[in-house]
Amino acid sequence: MLKNKKILITGIANKYSIALGIAKAMKNQGAELAIAYQNERLLKNVQSLADELETNVLIECDVSSDESIKESKQTLIDEWGTFDGFVHSIGFAPSDQLVGNFVDVTTREGFKIAHDISSYSFTALAKEYKDILNPNSALLTLTYLGSVQTMPNYNVMGLAKASLEANTRFLAASLGKDNIRVNAISAGPIKTLAASGVKNFRKMLSQHAERAPLGRTVTQEEVGNTAAFLCSDLASGITGEITYVDAGFNISAMPLGEHSE
Ligand code: NAP
Repeated sequence: MLKNKKILITGIANKYSIALGIAKAMKNQGAELAIAYQNERLLKNVQSLADELETNVLIECDVSSDESIKESKQTLIDEWGTFDGFVHSIGFAPSDQLVGNFVDVTTREGFKIAHDISSYSFTALAKEYKDILNPNSALLTLTYLGSVQTMPNYNVMGLAKASLEANTRFLAASLGKDNIRVNAISAGPIKTLAASGVKNFRKMLSQHAERAPLGRTVTQEEVGNTAAFLCSDLASGITGEITYVDAGFNISAMPLGEHSE
């Protein structure tokens, strides 16, 4: 599905990262990969995972810095010249923003950081890389249901994800003329480093399994397979979409349970 495609994967922190599931699925479909890491401190972690993915293209990119994004572009040019898309699997909000009553805990600084790292960075990467992306390229980001429905503790990340989804649509409109597609996957909850920053995340997992039509949560691999499809030419008619990979949770207001009998 992805033969002859060169794709940059951001957001691999460790073996639990959704981005690793995506990288594995894309590699299985024939893609050539480059792996981005935030800074030197995290390189060691990423190095062994990159070895597993059989790539030695490792690129430093801290998305909070325009300078770092520029340098990552130069590395991409040196390594590949041009390429066929990237996966933005990055989200962050300070931990004090992700616990407690939204109106009480949200601060101007927390709001700014969450939106900068979790949403603006998608635009920033697209803006910087667009002239080295081949026609038929695809960009992909990861979002969550907190963008459209409330839930405890997710707080300002919900607002940042709403922004990221609008960002997906505006980028899709903006880059369509260059034949670059832009999509998002709204993944169900998966236990990762970022997710463990949300208080009571374990409860979210169990409630998800109870209410989802498929009666379970989803895996990194399931998100990865959908990502591979969306970045492949098989999805050539799809852009600006939010695709839910959540075992159907978002369509269910209530589990069937005893009321269905
Ligand atoms: P994760 O493994 O912790 O990945 C988050 C990634 O964001 C990490 O690799 C982190 O890098 C990176 N990041 C944070 N700040 C960055 C910066 N300034 N520059 C570059 N990279 C930065 O957690 P994950 O759950 O797989 O998260 C990936 C994406 O999926 C996020 O957008 C998240 O909101 C979304 N998502 C997650 C779930 C879930 O339940 N897990 C559900 C739906 C959507 P460092 O570790 O190096 O800081």
